[in-house]
Amino acid sequence: MITHNPSVLLIYTGGTIGMIENPETGALENFNFDHLMSHVPELKRFNYRIASYQFDPPIDSSDMEPNLWIKLVKIINYNYDYYDGFVILHGTDTMSYTASALSFMLENLSKPVILTGSQLPIGVLRTDGKENLITSIEIAAAKDEEGNTMVPEVCIFFENHLLRGNRTTKINAENFNAFQSFNYPPLAVAGIHIKYDTSLVRHPDNSKPFKPHYVLDPNVVVLTLFPGIQREIVASLLKVKGLKAVVLKTYGSGNAPQLKWLIGELNEAHKRGIVIVNITQCSLGSVEMSRYETGMHLLQTGVICGYDSTMESALTKLMFLLGHKLNYQEVRKAMLSDLAGEITV
Ligand code: ASP
Repeated sequence: MITHNPSVLLIYTGGTIGMIENPETGALENFNFDHLMSHVPELKRFNYRIASYQFDPPIDSSDMEPNLWIKLVKIINYNYDYYDGFVILHGTDTMSYTASALSFMLENLSKPVILTGSQLPIGVLRTDGKENLITSIEIAAAKDEEGNTMVPEVCIFFENHLLRGNRTTKINAENFNAFQSFNYPPLAVAGIHIKYDTSLVRHPDNSKPFKPHYVLDPNVVVLTLFPGIQREIVASLLKVKGLKAVVLKTYGSGNAPQLKWLIGELNEAHKRGIVIVNITQCSLGSVEMSRYETGMHLLQTGVICGYDSTMESALTKLMFLLGHKLNYQEVRKAMLSDLAGEITV
């Protein structure tokens, strides 16, 4: 067997990890990749071949856009055969959206794509960025005894936990444990050793090639229900020109108020071909519309069950499916199927 030094491509998109403080305003601003690397001399101790690609200029992840997800897919595809794995340095604010989108766009992925970042810039003494970066690189290069990739998935590594990307949500704006995967356990936990739970990891279908996708349709919206929600607002939202799909955030196990007008508006939107997916406002658990009468009404209007999907995952999955110009029935079928480990059906 030919062995070679592990190789990892680091893609630096921006985010706190590489920011420095503007001496005049005190605000955090993006800096360049060399600055970031000079603060992690430990990387030289890996016997890995580490190359990098830098967004120019690096962005705060609040400025993330679907066309930049397409750019990331292009970078990964272009370099796919040359590296064992990929680490994407990304701001935490929209990291879960990017991880979710990439999980659908990188179909039949056979290499790790690990997103990470930090809550404190890498130049700061107490930074969490160093650990996150170093361990992410190790995970991106990790192989088992037979030389197989340990985690051929899009993941987020943050504060000792390796999480499936499309199951994550940012839950904390200040603590180091910024991400949670409420409905799926961590794929690995990093302590003295990195302990993988191999039974939880998804593997590609080896009879099929890796297939990158470059189309997304962002004509989607998230509508959160709340007591007092107004008809005029819902009605006009559902009639916005170009709107193709709605992620409806309902109560509990997928329940909505039994307002005649709400059911009517949803029904009418459904008849016009708008895809409406029901996910719960609860962090943990799954939608089960037939459980209560208040959920049953939604089911009858044609609302699709989103199971235990995160909002980020439901939204980007819809963008992905609509980008492929699928018809209503095809989108519905795919939303009810597990494409990349994003839902428990
Ligand atoms: N605003 C920053 C970003 O998401 C926060 C971070 O990096 O954690 O880019």
